Amino acid sequence: MRAVVYHGPGSKEWEEVPKPKIVEDGDAIVRVDAVTICGTDLHILKGDVPAVTEGRILGHEAVGTVEEVGPGVKVLKPGDHVLVSCITACGRCRFCRESRYGLCIGGGGWILGHKIDGTQAEYVRVPFADTSTYLIPPGVSDESVLMLADIGPTGYEVGVLNGGVEPGDVVAVVGAGPVGLSAMLTSQLYSPSHIVAIDVADSRLEASKGFGATELINNSREDAVAAIQQLTDGLGADVAIEAVGIPETFELCAELIRPGGRLANVGVHGKPATLHLEDLWIKGVEIRTGLVDTYSTATLLKLIASRQLEVDEFITHHFHMDQFMDEYDLFARAAETGALKVVITKP
Ligand code: NAD
Ligand code: ZN
Repeated sequence: MRAVVYHGPGSKEWEEVPKPKIVEDGDAIVRVDAVTICGTDLHILKGDVPAVTEGRILGHEAVGTVEEVGPGVKVLKPGDHVLVSCITACGRCRFCRESRYGLCIGGGGWILGHKIDGTQAEYVRVPFADTSTYLIPPGVSDESVLMLADIGPTGYEVGVLNGGVEPGDVVAVVGAGPVGLSAMLTSQLYSPSHIVAIDVADSRLEASKGFGATELINNSREDAVAAIQQLTDGLGADVAIEAVGIPETFELCAELIRPGGRLANVGVHGKPATLHLEDLWIKGVEIRTGLVDTYSTATLLKLIASRQLEVDEFITHHFHMDQFMDEYDLFARAAETGALKVVITKP
């Protein structure tokens, strides 16, 4: 089969590799029908995620068809059409039993395309298959469901739910990439009064309008703090969601929130950021961080099936697997190309 193989920082190839086999009892081999690329894959390619070693197949998002299951798989069967989530769950450890699958210590967590071979391939081995995949309900498209492999639950859980968005809130989202846009989209489930999109790329701000943003701020030219103060009678935002992953945007979020406000950090950070406790200690703020757990995936699937959540606007490009290198190139130049999510299928 063919797969996207990581060959160290800056280097990857769509190349011939052995087809995966069942290794553990709970494994399934899934034929990949649709797959996508994540901002985190670009972080890996820059060398920011040293746990990813040379020879690793990339990718942690897919929709596919079960081809074979190990003897320990009790629910899933060959032919089932499933979502392969970015988070694998052993289902048995103390964290899995609290729905904190991202923290799994039983061999799961974020492992696909990270610690084991991933989904940007014709076939993928999925460990703990019963507890790490979701059957796709009838009437929803593969590509819609693919939006729930990572960005859907990430924006919702780590952004909106960790930020405690409530009716009437002013929500500031810093970073309008797919993850920030997902936070804007799903914060609407809680009827905020304003969703303020803050980004340095006009193309991304333009896209934010389709995901519920009511105000757009380009913070390369405008003072985001002043704009939020003006909108909130000088108080600040109820919730700020950080969806970039650099020190300055975390620090900006801490400045944007009102006394008693909430900061939800979603971005993957590679460098330390400054926590201004000299300002924050008296403000009674809440700061939360985390890797997505995907405990909301089943809920989001229902919302897509009932058309209460429209995710198709994320999909800006379609490609076939043999064009994988071009897709990476297009995705890496997102500010120019307008790419949000690319859906990659078999020719
Ligand atoms: P992305 O790179 O597509 O989007 C980031 C956006 O931030 C871009 O639109 C960019 O223009 C903007 N930006 C850059 N510098 C900025 C600045 N100084 N001020 C304002 N905006 C700025 O990334 P994405 O796929 O949307 O992911 C966002 C972050 O979430 C990444 O760090 C990613 O690794 C992380 N992530 C976290 C989790 C988790 O579980 N916590 C899961 C998936 C992704
Ligand atoms: Zn576990």
